Amino acid sequence: MQRYEVVVIGAGVAGSFTALLSALSGFRTCLIESSTYPNGATSLSGGVVTRMMDNYIDRELASISIDLIEKYVSEDCIHRGYVCVESYRYAEKDLEKFREYIPDLLLLDADEVRSRWEYIKLYDNEAALFAPSDLTLNPSEMLRDLWEKVLDAGCELMAGKRVDKVDVDVDRVVRLGTQAGDYIRGENFVFCAGPWNIVLLKHIGIDWNMWLLGVPIFKFKVISQSDLVGVWDEYVYSYWRPEDSFLIGGVYDAFSIDSPEKAFIDPSQENINNVLEGFRYRFNFMEWELVDGWCGPISISRDYRPIYGCVDGFSNLYIIDGLGGRGLMRGPALAYKLVTEYLSK
Ligand SMILES: Cc1cc2nc3c(=O)[nH]c(=O)nc-3n(C[C@H](O)[C@H](O)[C@H](O)COP(=O)(O)OP(=O)(O)OC[C@H]3O[C@@H](n4cnc5c(N)ncnc54)[C@H](O)[C@@H]3O)c2cc1C
Repeated sequence: MQRYEVVVIGAGVAGSFTALLSALSGFRTCLIESSTYPNGATSLSGGVVTRMMDNYIDRELASISIDLIEKYVSEDCIHRGYVCVESYRYAEKDLEKFREYIPDLLLLDADEVRSRWEYIKLYDNEAALFAPSDLTLNPSEMLRDLWEKVLDAGCELMAGKRVDKVDVDVDRVVRLGTQAGDYIRGENFVFCAGPWNIVLLKHIGIDWNMWLLGVPIFKFKVISQSDLVGVWDEYVYSYWRPEDSFLIGGVYDAFSIDSPEKAFIDPSQENINNVLEGFRYRFNFMEWELVDGWCGPISISRDYRPIYGCVDGFSNLYIIDGLGGRGLMRGPALAYKLVTEYLSK
């Protein structure tokens, strides 16, 4: 039986980057994923990767994540530029705060915004911060691309295998079992199953205390005379990613769930009404149509901070979790930190 130095469970953004960086660091690595195609929170997400965030820890993580995405993810999955609309007063303050992380950040007034993107509505006293080097991504395409890079780096990818057994000897995980009957032995194990970490940790008697939420998101087909750009609307808390002639995004409208599977439902009529309100508030397209909507799970720690490191009571079990609604901004950076600070020590 093959014995790996690092076994990663879950091939979302956190697990895919962890496996890639582990394999590139020279560790014999295996990545186990229950689906055969991108199907977790990452693939359902909005794809926004901006450093324009309220707390400096997230700004720092997003900066590292953007560097990693630029380095490892194919250009075809990436769209550059992100606009944050807010009151002029806050925009002036945020310009100072964010510039440390985003040297090319620009403050645009309503006329400048209109001349670049005629479909974005700005109201009295509003302005926009424009970060040309912030990113939006097609998250499923990014994962497909990363899975190829993971294989190229010499990592074994076991897709379509759900881990449902975790064997422990005192303070060490010794092997995993899958529903299909495989056993995987390793020296170090990293749980990157996002909202499913709760389920995995239950196998070893740990009651992992996270909030689980379901989040709706929508796809609008739009017609515009100007190019589409990613947009964050500080007033109604909506976020948007461009993809061809579509805008994908939503308003923050989460609902509480007690298991990740319960997030996989259609958005409610109330969710639809809320997103229509947010969309109409900020945009002025020549023509538009709501064409799709879905929901996905996120997990949030009790203090809202992301979690990475060794699981208490275990010497060779590590975890990345609590990425919340910011997993694309936090996940690659935490994978890098886990590999360099824990696995490579
Ligand atoms: C609607 C929505 C919009 C969002 N928009 C954004 C955004 O714009 N920007 C942003 O930064 N973040 C956004 N997020 C948050 C982001 O998607 C998550 O924080 C992030 O994807 C979590 O990544 P992960 O790798 O931890 O989990 P996941 O992507 O869920 O990956 C976990 C993987 O583990 C696998 N798995 C689970 N159990 C097992 C098992 N037993 N055995 C093997 N494999 C298993 C799953 O199949 C899954 O592929 C959004 C989330 C949602 C739901």
